[in-house]
Amino acid sequence: MAGIYIHIPFCKKACTYCDFHFTTSLKYAEEMTDAICAEIILKRDRIAGQQVGSIYFGGGTPSVLPIPYLAKIFSTLTKHFSIAADAEITIETNPDDLDSKKIAELRQLPINRFSIGTQSFFDEDLIWMNRAHNTIEAETCIKRSQDAGFENLSIDLIYGYPLLTNEKFLKNISKAIELQIPHISGYSLTVEPKTALASLIKKGFQIPLNEEQSAEQFQILIEKLRFAGFEHYEISNFSLPGKYAVHNTNYWRGVPYLGIGPSAHGFDGTNRYLNVANNAMYLQKLTAGKLAETVEELTQLDRFNEYIMTSLRTMWGTDLEKINQNFGKTFLEETLYNIKPFIERNWLSHQNNKLILTSEGKLFADHIASELFLIEDHEH
Ligand code: SF4
Repeated sequence: MAGIYIHIPFCKKACTYCDFHFTTSLKYAEEMTDAICAEIILKRDRIAGQQVGSIYFGGGTPSVLPIPYLAKIFSTLTKHFSIAADAEITIETNPDDLDSKKIAELRQLPINRFSIGTQSFFDEDLIWMNRAHNTIEAETCIKRSQDAGFENLSIDLIYGYPLLTNEKFLKNISKAIELQIPHISGYSLTVEPKTALASLIKKGFQIPLNEEQSAEQFQILIEKLRFAGFEHYEISNFSLPGKYAVHNTNYWRGVPYLGIGPSAHGFDGTNRYLNVANNAMYLQKLTAGKLAETVEELTQLDRFNEYIMTSLRTMWGTDLEKINQNFGKTFLEETLYNIKPFIERNWLSHQNNKLILTSEGKLFADHIASELFLIEDHEH
């Protein structure tokens, strides 16, 4: 089964830390919808004969797109693809968009999962982030969604920013548990270049982030959610048993997916496709009936490194037999050599031919993965 990712590049406000592709003007929303539909048609043959098992509307904030435009995208999708009856269909939403009317309208579309950009249940934090919603909206939109029948909810929580004490973070996590959210994504705030936050820190208007605080809060998140029965199935993702995000899990497993919309990425099992991260250029190309993408041909090394990066972050771990089968004996031997220091430090466990991060190793996931990457001349 394949997946489809659709990037909706509109937001109401610019959050200070965000480096995703979006604009705060909805002026070209209609043209964008038409371009997205055109791209869906142009790319339909890439997953011809495969059922679609997941569709993910990301952004930006897809919930700002007017319902008739979302409906138009769905009618194009259903016309050109065979969508599995139990497909997971997620839309990223922000709390300020989810009033009763909007939720009822979204219920009329084939959407069955909301990923809600909650981030915090404290107003001062939301103001600091320049989010468009407040705490009351954050809580009521969750209850409203559940009352309307959207039980498959995910929320995002951010940690590691100066305003967030451990006590406040514990309260945020408790609130999510109390609201019976089955899936929680927890992200450590990072300062990306060219964001408002980076500039504020540079000018001395904001204090730099504290890595120790971030590591401590990551541990708090892991422990609190484990105690509440959540599985830590990917470094940034926790779910009640069986409530894994299908779309993302397939992505980590290397399942092909189409990337639609400006800045979207796609993967066909061999190569990666990158759409231009510029709305005007995207619209211009698609209006002329052309794709707005570049193809990144992945070498065997690229694919190996990507497999290490994504698999190691999951609770299923890196499968050494898979490395042997898909990449060969040299890659396997090299990996077995490279893991030694991490096994000794008890950051990695090696059991049943799988490499799995230990609790301590989870704190260094990216570092360990990068040390296991292989480069051009990988003979030692
Ligand atoms: S709502 Fe999301 S995509 Fe939009 S600016 Fe904020 S973090 Fe970025």
